[in-house]
Amino acid sequence: MAEIRFENVSKIYQQKVKAVKDINLSINDKEFVVLVGPSGCGKSTILRMIAGLEEISEGKLYIDNKLVNNLPPKDRDIAIVFQNYALYPHMTAYENLAFGLKIKRMDKKSIQARVMRAARILEIEELLDRKPRAMSGGQNQRVAIGRAIVRDPRAFLFDEPLSNLDANLRVQMRIEIAKLHKRLNATVVYVTHDQVEAMTLGERIVIIDKGEIQQIDTPSNLYANPANLFVAGFIGTPPMNFIHGKVIQANDGILFTDNSQKFKVNLPSNHLLMKYIEKEVVLGIRSEDIYYQAGESKNEFAVLSSEIKFVEKLGHEIYAYLQLQDQQIISRLKYDAEIMKGRVTDFYFDIRKMYFFDKYTGANLQME
Ligand code: ADP
Repeated sequence: MAEIRFENVSKIYQQKVKAVKDINLSINDKEFVVLVGPSGCGKSTILRMIAGLEEISEGKLYIDNKLVNNLPPKDRDIAIVFQNYALYPHMTAYENLAFGLKIKRMDKKSIQARVMRAARILEIEELLDRKPRAMSGGQNQRVAIGRAIVRDPRAFLFDEPLSNLDANLRVQMRIEIAKLHKRLNATVVYVTHDQVEAMTLGERIVIIDKGEIQQIDTPSNLYANPANLFVAGFIGTPPMNFIHGKVIQANDGILFTDNSQKFKVNLPSNHLLMKYIEKEVVLGIRSEDIYYQAGESKNEFAVLSSEIKFVEKLGHEIYAYLQLQDQQIISRLKYDAEIMKGRVTDFYFDIRKMYFFDKYTGANLQME
C-alpha cells in the first residue's frame, strides 16, 4: 500500500538549477503512473525524490500521509529499478536477488522462498546460477526487476528501465511490465522519455516539460484533450500539425487564415474563436484527420491544395508531406492511397477535429 503525494515541491541543484518547479501530484495506491517528457525535464529527479535519493528543496512529500522529506531511503520501503540494471557482476542471478535480504538478516529459507517466487513471476528460474555477463540485456533487466520484487516493497519505481534494450525486446518487456503490475498489485511510478511507452503503460500519465507539470491525465484524454501546445505536439506519432494564423470577422461567420492567407477555415459565428477575432492563434490538426478524398460531405472540411513534397510508405499506412509556406504538414493515409510525390493535390482538413491554441501561452482554447 502506497499513496504518494507531492505538495508544491521544487528541486534546486547547487542553489541555481531549478530542475523541478512547484509540482503538485497525487499518486493513488496501486496506480501505474508514468512520468514522461524530454531529456532533462526533471522526471528522474522527481523519481529520486520519492526514493529519498535526492533532497527536497521546497515543499512537502508524503507517502501514505506521512511526511517523508527527511526519511532516509532505507526506511521508505520503496524499490527502484535503474536503466543500467546495477547488478553485482561477480554474483549469480540468485545471489543478486538474495543479497538485499541477506543484508537485512532474513533467514535462508525465507530468502529462498522469496527469490524463487520472484524468479517464477519473471520466468528466470533457469538463469539463477548465471552471472550478469552470461545473460542478455533483457535477462539482466529481469533480474534487476526481480531484485525489487523480492523486497516486497510498498511501491516500485522504474527509471527508464527499457532504454538499453533493442526495439523488439522493448515491446516485449513493456507488455511484461504491464502484466507484472497486475500481478504485484502495487503502486508503480515509471519514468520514460518515450511517449509510446508512456501511452501503453500508464493508467495516468504526467507530462513534464522544463521542470513543470504540463498535464496529468489518462492516455486517451491526453490524446483527445491536450491542455496546451506542448502536450499536443508531444503525444502522437507523427506529432500534431500546427498552423500559425489569425482569426478574422467574415460576412457569415468567422474565418481562420494562416499567415500566408492560402489556407482558410470557415467557422460559424458561435465558434469559440469568436472571442479571438483579430488575434493570432495556432490551429492544430492530427495527421489522420487530413484526407486526400473528401467523401460526401465536403462542407465539413477546409481544403488545402499543396504539392506533395515527400511520401513515406510504411506498409500499413502512408505519410504524405505537404507544405504551407514554411510549415510542414503531414497527412496520414491508408496504405492503398494513390498519391504521388511532386503532384499538386487537394487535401481535406476535418473541421470538427481541429484544435486551437493561444499563440503566446500555448493553452488549448477549448479548455479555457
Ligand atoms: P530527466 O530525468 O528528465 O532527463 P533530470 O531529472 O535528470 O532530467 O534532470 C533535470 C535537470 O536537472 C537537468 O537540467 C539536469 O542537468 C539537472 N541536474 C540533474 N542532476 C543534477 C545534479 N546532481 N546537479 C546539478 N544539476 C543536475
